[in-house]
Parts: sequence; C-alpha cells; structure tokens
Amino acid sequence: MELKDRISILKGDITKVAADAIVNAANSSLMGGGGVDGAIHRAGGKRILEECMEIVNIRGKCKTGEAVITSAGDLPVRYVIHTVGPVWTGGKSGENEQLSNCYINSLDLAVKHGIESIAFPNISTGVYHFPRAEAAEIAFRTVRDFLEKNETITNVYFVCFDEENYALYNEIYNRAFAYSE
Ligand code: ADP
Repeated sequence: MELKDRISILKGDITKVAADAIVNAANSSLMGGGGVDGAIHRAGGKRILEECMEIVNIRGKCKTGEAVITSAGDLPVRYVIHTVGPVWTGGKSGENEQLSNCYINSLDLAVKHGIESIAFPNISTGVYHFPRAEAAEIAFRTVRDFLEKNETITNVYFVCFDEENYALYNEIYNRAFAYSE
C-alpha cells in the first residue's frame, strides 16, 4: 500500500471513528479533563478511567511525550492510547521534540499491540496552545517518517475537530503527495 493511501485526513469527533485504536491527548495525571480527553472518557465510560488510575498507581504520572495504552470501554475501537502533549511556552523548552515523541511513542505502542489502524487528534493544539500550523507539520512529518520504516500500520487517521486544523492538514497532505499518482 502506498504511503498516501495509508494517511487520511478526517473532520469530526474522534470518539466516532472506527479504527483499532484512537489516541487521547491526555494530561500527565491521566485523570481525564476537558477537550478531546473529556469527550473520550464520556463516550468510553468508566472502565478507561479505572485502567488509567491503575497505571498511575503502578508507574506514576505519564510524562510529557510518553504514551500508555488502555482498553476502550464503550468506544468502537479496541484500544485508547493516552499520550501527554507539551504545553506551549514559546517553543524553546523542547516542545517540538516532545510533540513528535507523542506520535512516535503512540505508534510504537500500537505496533506492540498489533494495531493496524489508528486515529490521532491534533495533540496540544487546544488548551495547550501549540501553534496549529507547526503542530500539524510536526505531526505529519513524524507519522510519515514512521510509516516509511514500518509496514504493520496500514492506516493513520488525523482527526481534525476544527476547520483550521482540517485545512492545514489537507494542505500539508496535498503538498506531500502532489507528484504521486
Ligand atoms: P491539548 O490539551 O492537548 O491541547 P485539547 O483536547 O484541548 O488537548 O485539544 C486538542 C485538539 O483536540 C484540539 O485541536 C481540539 O479542537 C480537538 N478536539 C476537541 N474535542 C475533540 C473531539 N471530540 N474529537 C477530536 N478532536 C477534538
């Protein structure tokens, strides 16, 4: 399968996406919150939070850039991968690399669990205020580089909740694959 067919840009609510796994833009406590985190816990039910609490009890909080995996409760997916995006503080505190690590660590976990299709929200671009254009470039480049080296993941969906992100991702996608058939 060609790279361009393994990446899709979707618009809407990630809790409605059917894939093997969806990724949650969590915070380090893994205790739920607002935005996409709140939507995932609301739609998935309490099982997800119980597993998150177990993980924190065993290994402590989830650091920025890291990822952990739980089951998905009532969601139409098998797993939820929770990753903690960086809070934007101007770009000089390693935010770019941390954001990239969110995608890499989520994909690594996906591979370990035999996940073939995975949906990402636009991590850190809500209350964490990462500039959207830069976040989209980092997300796309990181996923693309990963897929070039990995055969097992067949589909990555970038699920954009707002128009601006949707337009940005489409532009990047079209630019990346402009000269392929
Ligand atoms: P962060 O703390 O990482 O910034 P947010 O949840 O505030 O996390 O925002 C991350 C992105 O998720 C934002 O672009 C926001 O618009 C988007 N978002 C919010 N709700 C949903 C949802 N139900 N499905 C997909 N994306 C969502």
